[in-house]
Amino acid sequence: MHTGSCLCGAVRYTVRGDIGATVYCHCGRCRKAGGSAFATNAAVAADAFELVEGADAVTTFSTAEGVHRVFCSRCGSPLISRRDSQPELVRLRVGTLDTPLPGRPGAHIFVASKAAWFDIRDDLPQYPERP
Ligand SMILES: [Zn+2]
Ligand SMILES: [Zn+2]
Repeated sequence: MHTGSCLCGAVRYTVRGDIGATVYCHCGRCRKAGGSAFATNAAVAADAFELVEGADAVTTFSTAEGVHRVFCSRCGSPLISRRDSQPELVRLRVGTLDTPLPGRPGAHIFVASKAAWFDIRDDLPQYPERP
């Protein structure tokens, strides 16, 4: 079992079972949401993710495209995103894990919109959008 929390500690969650494919996402939305060059996100089965503390602190920012970004309203930590088109998955912001991430991120996605000031310096596959 994996556990994680937000910066202020109000929100705690568990992930039962596997943390799936992990990617560096360079899209402009992740850049804004995290305030950095990219987000590191893992696919997790929606029913494997459970908020164990701080449900009252959690806020969701939803877009017209049916993407819901869940974050802590007290400290701003991004936690997961959900998509109406893929209700079986959540995308975990793995920087909030307190337990080690098993494995390593496997790709860069949305490279077509990456920050011009960030250079990718590894040999992982790069995709212009979501593959
Ligand atoms: Zn917090
Ligand atoms: Zn993104």
